[in-house]
Amino acid sequence: MTFNGLIRDLKKTVGSSKIIFSNEELQVYAGDASYDLINHTPDVVVLPETVDDVIKVVRYAKAYKVAITPRGAGSGLAGGCTPLSGGIVLDMKRMNAIIEINRTNLTATCEAGVVLAQLHRAVEKEKLFYPPDPQSKSICTLGGNISTRAGGPRAIKYGTTGHYVLGLEIVLPDGEFIKTGNICLKHSVGYDLTHLFTGAEGTLGVIVKADLRLLPKPESQRTVIITCESVQQAADLIGDIVRAGIIPSTLEYLSRSPIKLFNKNIKPPLKEDGGAYLFVKLDGSKVGINDDLKKLEEICTETNSIDIRIVDNKNAALYWQMRANLYPMMVAQNDKIIPEDVTVPRDKIPAFIEKVKKISEYYKMKIGISGHAGDGNMHPSIIIPDRDKHTESEILMVIHEIIKSGLDLRGNISGEHGVGVLKSEFSYLELGERQIEVMKRIKKAIDPQGIMNPGKIWKN
Ligand SMILES: Cc1cc2nc3c(=O)[nH]c(=O)nc-3n(C[C@H](O)[C@H](O)[C@H](O)COP(=O)(O)OP(=O)(O)OC[C@H]3O[C@@H](n4cnc5c(N)ncnc54)[C@H](O)[C@@H]3O)c2cc1C
Repeated sequence: MTFNGLIRDLKKTVGSSKIIFSNEELQVYAGDASYDLINHTPDVVVLPETVDDVIKVVRYAKAYKVAITPRGAGSGLAGGCTPLSGGIVLDMKRMNAIIEINRTNLTATCEAGVVLAQLHRAVEKEKLFYPPDPQSKSICTLGGNISTRAGGPRAIKYGTTGHYVLGLEIVLPDGEFIKTGNICLKHSVGYDLTHLFTGAEGTLGVIVKADLRLLPKPESQRTVIITCESVQQAADLIGDIVRAGIIPSTLEYLSRSPIKLFNKNIKPPLKEDGGAYLFVKLDGSKVGINDDLKKLEEICTETNSIDIRIVDNKNAALYWQMRANLYPMMVAQNDKIIPEDVTVPRDKIPAFIEKVKKISEYYKMKIGISGHAGDGNMHPSIIIPDRDKHTESEILMVIHEIIKSGLDLRGNISGEHGVGVLKSEFSYLELGERQIEVMKRIKKAIDPQGIMNPGKIWKN
């Protein structure tokens, strides 16, 4: 199929107003928010507005064996929506209707292009709660969240996106439409296809709609900042907190360097002599939170933490806003940031941080460490202040070492960002060839032509 033929046919299939093909605009679709090692422009972008549009485009792609890459907001950090083989990018952002919020059933039904913060606002108006909260919530879409099993700080208490997906509507690579699951809270009929497509990174089909589970909105919340003497003390504290029956809705680990940045805005400033910092949010009933606060203070006193600050709710938003903006702040100050995403068992956090420090020293590359410590999901960020200072192969070596360190501690290569293309060469390290072979067979059964987001999750 020639370029002109492709554009002509797609115009006929869905209409000119749903197609982008100018060179400048296509550049925007060449990659996502990740490290820009691997980018590739598509031949054309289609912005479907209905399920029927998606079906027509996928049928066309099947007939001419053209690659299709589904895309949400492109906020991914693994290169998942990078159209490695060119072809068609399906930008889902126009399919953004919240179709139903069921207050009795505690479920929501949404199109895939709904922006996460839009859903948060809508359900919270009804005193309901959708817990998954990737820090990109103001831009990322539900389709992208579902396809990467996105997490976020609240995962320690509430789990990740996968725990809230009850059913999906999907256009398969042959253009057929299926509906898996439904808005029922229990489902025990056949293979769990809903959760096969959840986390499939757009390699098995295009998600067009989702049924999601909601919770009642917690009555209240409180924020606590704990300054610890060392990483070990912080890790021990996390264990103590959870063992005491306190399950914070958020339990974030930060090293000293971001605190110095935060202190430009925080009054009074946090102590800067800490070896590690825990940002804790408790939510639930007011009575329950007060009990937890008392226990938390006792634990911190017993373990000699340097400082515990209970932040009043009026000021808490500032702390969390700065935590959420840490990555964009680092991006703004440096030439390049490569945010890694490795999960280790909670008790292995100090050992992992120690290993990362050694890697940083050995390769003379600055690596900042923060993470959703409550669930062991660590985000070492490789900081490249000057692009010319390190070669790409050096950077890849450091990524490899960080990933290996996590795996050696019985961790995994991604807790929430997915594999995409950036980690596709590492997936065999965790999964092994046999498991990847099983995945390849599933892929072949659903997408025999290999047109759906090719080149992702594993290296061929
Ligand atoms: C500042 C910042 C903070 C972040 N914080 C977090 C965090 O706390 N937790 C976290 O988990 N992630 C985080 N991320 C990563 C990213 O936002 C998530 O991976 C998010 O889920 C991606 O959503 P998206 O709509 O941008 O998807 P995209 O990046 O567009 O796509 C991601 C993947 O999903 C597939 N896909 C998208 N839509 C569909 C669909 N409708 N059907 C089938 N496949 C589809 C794509 O093909 C691709 O493989 C962060 C990113 C940034 C930039």
